[in-house]
This record gives sequence, C-alpha cells and structure tokens, in this order.
Amino acid sequence: MGANLGDRHGALRAAVAAMDRLPGTRVQRVSALYASAPVDAGGPDYLNAVAELATTLPPLPLLQALQALELNAGRERPYRNAPRTLDLDILWFGDAVICTPELTVPHPRMLERAFVLCPLADLAPGRVGDAALDAVSAQAIHRLEGAGWARLDPLRFAPEK
Ligand code: AMP
Repeated sequence: MGANLGDRHGALRAAVAAMDRLPGTRVQRVSALYASAPVDAGGPDYLNAVAELATTLPPLPLLQALQALELNAGRERPYRNAPRTLDLDILWFGDAVICTPELTVPHPRMLERAFVLCPLADLAPGRVGDAALDAVSAQAIHRLEGAGWARLDPLRFAPEK
C-alpha cells in the first residue's frame, strides 16, 4: 500500500478496512507504517505499509478489487509514477508465479524498493532476508508507527461473513 497525496494516513487506514470487507477476504496482519521519498517521481513523501490477506478470490479478481478501491480513493493515472492518493499492489500471492499482461506476481519491482521490502520484512522476515534489505539500504525510509496504526478491530472476527 502506498499514498502520497491528501490524507495519506486516512487513505491507508481506509484501505485496510476496505480490503477486510472484500468478498471472502480478511486482513490477517499489517506491517508498521513507513515514510519514504518517491522513487523515480516527484511529489510529497509516501506512506507505505504491507498487509497480509487471506482470500478466496483468485489473483485477477483480487487485483480488480484493489484497483476499484484505488479508484474509490480518488486515484487518477495522469502519467506513469504520478503522485497518488492510493496505490495497492500485489507482492506475493501465496507461492504463485503469474505472468500475464494484467498481473505479474511476485511483483517485478519489489526487490528494488526499500518501501516494499522494509514493511514486507516486518511480516515475513524469513522470506525477505538480510541480503535483499542490504541491497536497498541506501534508500531513505523511516519507520513511523508500529502495526497499531491500522486499528484493525479485533471484534471483526466475531461475526461470520
Ligand atoms: P500502478 O500504476 O503501479 O498501480 O500499476 C498498475 C498496473 O500494473 C496495472 O495496469 C496492473 O494491471 C499492473 N500490474 C502488474 N502486476 C501487478 C501487481 N503485482 N500488482 C498490481 N498491479 C500490477
């Protein structure tokens, strides 16, 4: 997740809540919240985080659902890497390897980006590894808040969907 326009914190919190409401989908865990300077682009700093979802949605419907959430958040795509109110990407989908025109998984640029690897390492340190983190250590990134920023309501687990 990333946002660098408007109420960035609110956009990410709303995205976590909205992903948790997608059909057959639950947000399992959320990383700490990070701030990073835009890569290959201008504009304000990004807020970034990574969420782990459990979902019965197949990969493409999940991507389409995430893109609908981006649009709801007022996302526009005037040009490549433009500042955005909300960016939702799929990093991994289980162990799936997907290479289609719409969707590439694992995400092709995740290894180049500290703003992906640092929050991802919060959730899956064994899968990220020190070598990958070392490779992006020159990129400025700040850990702002622990996982509590997302305020996932524990009671949401009570009722069946
Ligand atoms: P972006 O502007 O970064 O949100 O890129 C969105 C475009 O990347 C869309 O056209 C998607 O179809 C495509 N895409 C390919 N792989 C992925 C992925 N793993 N997660 C999100 N978008 C993807």
